[in-house]
Amino acid sequence: MTDLSDLFLRIRARHGHYCPMSTLGGRLGEMALLAVGKDAGALTATYHIDTCAADGIAVATGCLPEEGRLKMHPDGLHRLELRGEDGVGVRAELTPTALERAAACRKQLDEGGAPDEVLTELRTGPADELIALTPLAGGENDA
Ligand SMILES: [Zn+2]
Repeated sequence: MTDLSDLFLRIRARHGHYCPMSTLGGRLGEMALLAVGKDAGALTATYHIDTCAADGIAVATGCLPEEGRLKMHPDGLHRLELRGEDGVGVRAELTPTALERAAACRKQLDEGGAPDEVLTELRTGPADELIALTPLAGGENDA
C-alpha cells in the first residue's frame, strides 16, 4: 500500500482543496492501479462522471487528462476503468456506501468540520466497503 497521507497531500496540491470526491477518486485510482499491476505498460483511464474525483484519479494513477490518458465519459456512473497497453484492466466503481459516506462528509465539511478529521473514514476505510472491482478483459468495449 502506498503512503496514503502523501497521496492525499498530492491530490490536494492538484485539486486545490480537500473534499470527499477527490478523496474517493484517490482511493479508486489506488485500488485500480493495484489491481492492474505495475507491468501493464502505459495506462489509460476513463471516468464516467465529471466530479472532483477526476483529480484524485489522475494523481493516484498517473493518468493525466492533459496528456490524454484520463478521458471523461460522463454518463452518471461513479465508475473508473483503468487499462494497460493490451486493453486488459479493471473497473472500479464507488459503492452506494461510499456515496452515502461522501454525502455525510460533505455535510460535515459544510458545517465547519476539519477536513483531516471528517475525511479520515474515506481515506482509510476498508476498500471493499467503498469500491467494487471487476476485471476487464482486453478488447472488451465497455465505453
Ligand atoms: Zn473538490
